[in-house]
Amino acid sequence: MVQLEADARKLVEDYAESGPYELNPDSKHVDKIIKALAKRKSKNGFFYCPCRMLSDNKETDAKIICPCEYHVEEIEKDGICSCDLFVSQSYKPASAV
Ligand code: SF4
Repeated sequence: MVQLEADARKLVEDYAESGPYELNPDSKHVDKIIKALAKRKSKNGFFYCPCRMLSDNKETDAKIICPCEYHVEEIEKDGICSCDLFVSQSYKPASAV
């Protein structure tokens, strides 16, 4: 599991570095999601989104491999993805508003 967590961390950090979004400034929450992604990979074979249900359909499930197909729309709308992992560059945590 330690290796899977390291792989999940690399995946999300690389994505945040190369893409238009950032990691949630709440690093404890990021750690939690990374652990959950590692669990999904261990149990289900891919880094499936920890906050979405798997179906029995591989094509449908492929859409929720992190970073999922839905996060762009979610971040455009709410500034944060459904798992609260990736945020927009202008995202401000509720407590800091
Ligand atoms: S909602 Fe966020 S954490 Fe979940 S798969 Fe999509 S991008 Fe990854």
